[in-house]
Amino acid sequence: MREGNVKHYLVRPGTRVRLDHWDPNDTSGFEGVKDEGRKELDRLSVRLAELQELLYAEHRHAVLVVLQGLDSAGKDGTIRRVFEGVNPQGVRVVSFREPSALERDHDFLWRVHAQVPAKGEMVLFNRSHYEDVLVVRVHRLVPQSVWTRRYQAINEFERLLVNEGTTVVKFFLHVGRGEQRRRLSERLADPTKYWKFRGSDLADRRRWGAFAAAYEDVLTKTSTPWAPWYIVPSNHKWFRDLVVSRRIVRTLDGLRMRYPPLPARYRSARVS
Ligand code: ADP
Repeated sequence: MREGNVKHYLVRPGTRVRLDHWDPNDTSGFEGVKDEGRKELDRLSVRLAELQELLYAEHRHAVLVVLQGLDSAGKDGTIRRVFEGVNPQGVRVVSFREPSALERDHDFLWRVHAQVPAKGEMVLFNRSHYEDVLVVRVHRLVPQSVWTRRYQAINEFERLLVNEGTTVVKFFLHVGRGEQRRRLSERLADPTKYWKFRGSDLADRRRWGAFAAAYEDVLTKTSTPWAPWYIVPSNHKWFRDLVVSRRIVRTLDGLRMRYPPLPARYRSARVS
């Protein structure tokens, strides 16, 4: 996959996103076929593991990866595949579900801020603060006057994180309507997948247009120079994983991390 083609999926800050202009079937960023894509992903996994160790060792940067997408877009699968080679001690996954009563009694970023990565750490958000302008908007859980103010709060919150040394990368896993139908049907047909099925998936599917509009606003209003969104074509799982993996590896490479030198006081140390 060429650098230019990964960039292709970046939402340029300030551009209005129309999801029907983004093809969820796209695989054009990679010249090879699926098997070659998988091999490339294996190579990237090795590199990602090295970079994660470096991140931990250097203890200077923090990395936050945000994964959003409609039901069945593959947030769990992406985490499993892209991070399978990484030391589990160095990466933390946080899944955001419906807020508890205590969380609801605070501002929407309260629970989120508590989970952001520390220096040396990489944290993957499976859903995130963006639910507070997505499901909350579509299901009318708070008044419009409340959620409309949240985009600015989110941009400022992410700006704060970045100013203080966190790198933020956000992925919208873009699955098509037909492909979602196939995946949800599979959950009802395969006993090993029943556990994944939620009645709410069908209810939300009926609100496809409302979710698409909410996502378009998110991608339009919150792709910033400091915390950009990438729209990842996700109908083909191998390609989705490849785009995410490539972007994360490039982002970490861009941090130009170094192993810390041996402190001066140990330079003459000898192990007896
Ligand atoms: P997933 O669908 O991600 O595999 P779950 O089945 O546990 O995981 O679903 C989590 C649910 O929590 C989703 O329906 C999501 O919309 C909801 N949720 C997450 N954050 C919020 C929030 N801030 N307010 C309301 N609902 C939320």
